[in-house]
Amino acid sequence: KKLNSAQVRRMFLDFFIQHGHKEMPSQSLVPVDDPTLLWINSGVATMKKYFDGKVVPENPRMTSSQKSLRTNDIENVGKTARHQTMFEMLGNFSVGNYFKDEVIPWAWELLTGDDWFGFDPKRLYITYYPKDHEAYQDWLKAGVLKDHLVPNKDNFWDIGQGPSGPDTEIFYDRGQAMNNLPEDDPESYPGGENERYLEIWNIVFSQFNHTPEDKYEPLPHKNIDTGMGLERVVSIFEHTKTNFETDLFLPLIKQAEEYSDNKVYGQNDADDIQFRIIADHIRAITFAIGDGALPSNMGRGYVIRRLLRRAVVAGKKLGIDDPFLSKMVPTVAKIMADYYPDVQKNEDYIASVILSEEKRFSSTLNGGLNLLNSVIASAKKKQHGLIDGQTAFKLYDTYGFPIELTKEYAADEGLDVDEKGFEAAMTEQQERARKARNIDNGMGVQKDVWTEFTTPSQYVGYDQLTVDNAKVI
Ligand code: ATP
Ligand code: MG
Ligand code: MG
Ligand code: MG
Repeated sequence: KKLNSAQVRRMFLDFFIQHGHKEMPSQSLVPVDDPTLLWINSGVATMKKYFDGKVVPENPRMTSSQKSLRTNDIENVGKTARHQTMFEMLGNFSVGNYFKDEVIPWAWELLTGDDWFGFDPKRLYITYYPKDHEAYQDWLKAGVLKDHLVPNKDNFWDIGQGPSGPDTEIFYDRGQAMNNLPEDDPESYPGGENERYLEIWNIVFSQFNHTPEDKYEPLPHKNIDTGMGLERVVSIFEHTKTNFETDLFLPLIKQAEEYSDNKVYGQNDADDIQFRIIADHIRAITFAIGDGALPSNMGRGYVIRRLLRRAVVAGKKLGIDDPFLSKMVPTVAKIMADYYPDVQKNEDYIASVILSEEKRFSSTLNGGLNLLNSVIASAKKKQHGLIDGQTAFKLYDTYGFPIELTKEYAADEGLDVDEKGFEAAMTEQQERARKARNIDNGMGVQKDVWTEFTTPSQYVGYDQLTVDNAKVI
C-alpha cells in the first residue's frame, strides 16, 4: 500500500471517528495556561484540562493530529532517521471511557486491517510492561505473533506523583538492509537505540494514582492516551530511508539543493545531515512564528533563535552564503496546506520575521566563524581539545552564536567547550553591565545595554522550562 502524508493523517483520524471519537483541531505550539511547558510536545499536552478534571469534554473519546515540538531532540535531528524538532503526533484519547480491552484490538485493526494501514503482522513488534498481563493477553487475542511480544520494564509511565501506569509501544521492523545497518548492533531489538525497529506508536494506560507515600492506587476513572509519529508512519508507506525523503520534507531539501554550492542530497553523510537540519528547522520555526512566538534571547524565543542560527550554519556548510530560509517558508506552507491552511495565509509575515533574523545573524556570522575556526585550529595544535569559556562567550555575546551551536560545531572537530568558563564570563559581564548602569544612572545617562540582541538580561537555556518527557507522550 502507498499512502502520502495527508492520506495517513486522514486515515488515522477517520478510523477513530468511526469508533465514536471527536476530531480535535491541532492546537497552537505555544501552550495555553500552562507555565510548566515551553512548547506543546505531544497530543496529550493539549488535553491536560480534560484529564485532570478541570474541564469536562463534550465527548470523552477524542482524536487529533497535534503539531508538537521537542527541544530534547534538537541534537538528534539530521543524525537519526526518525527525529525532528517539530512533528505531528496522531492520537486517540479516552477520558474515563474505554480502556485496554477496546483500544488494543482497535490499534491492531488500524495497523493491519486491509481497509486501513494493512501492515504485515510479521513486521510489527509490541513491547509491554512485564506485569501487565492484561495488555499481553489483549495483544495476543488481537492477533500479534507470540514471539513479537516483548516485555520491557521501561514500559511504565510515571512522573513521580499523580496519574501513572503501564504503556505499550509498537515497533515496525524496517529490516537490516533499509539503512545498511550493522548486523551485530547490540541495540538492534524493539526498544533499543537503533534504526531497524522503528517506534511508531505509544499507548499509555493511565490506571494508577502514584501517591506521595509512594503507593500505586487504582484510579476510579482510567484514561488512555496515545501518540503515533505521523512522519515515521509516512516513511514506511513511502519506503524512504528516513523521515526526510517523505513528501513532508523532500521539497524543502530540493529547494536547499538549489541554493547550495552544487551539493546534492544523498551523496555524502556530512552534507545530508545539513540538508535535514535545514528542512527540519525551517519547518519548526515557520510554525512556531505562525503560532505567535518570536525570536529572542529567552525561553521560547531562544529556541527559535537557536534553530534558525543552526540552520544558517548548516546552510553555510553547504556553501549557502545569502539569506535563504525566508524563501523556504512558502514551500513549508504549501506542503502543509492540506491540514494547516493558516500557515499559507500568514506566510508573508512569517517570512519577514525570518528574513530580519537571518540578516541580523549574517552580519556577524562570518566574523564568528573566523574566530571559531582559528580557536579550533589552535586548540587542535595544543592538543588540549578544549575551547575556552572566554572565547565561547565572545562568540555568544559579540557574534550571536548560541552556546549549543558552538558546542556542536566544536564537537564535530572532536573538541569540547569549557561551559563553566562560559557561564563565569556571562556572570562577569552581567556584573559589569549592572555597575555601568548604576554609574550611568548617576550621570543621568541610561545606557541601554539590555536591548542589544546579543546581551540577554538573563541567560535562560532552551530547556529550562521543558519537562522531561522521556515517557510522557
Ligand atoms: P524515541 O524513543 O524514538 O525518541 P519517544 O519514545 O521519545 O520516541 P514518545 O514520547 O513515545 O516518543 O512519543 C510518541 C510517538 O511520537 C513516538 O512513538 C514517535 O512515533 C513520535 N515521536 C516522538 N518524538 C519524535 C520526534 N522527535 N520526531 C518525530 N516523531 C517523534
Ligand atoms: Mg521511545
Ligand atoms: Mg515512546
Ligand atoms: Mg524520544
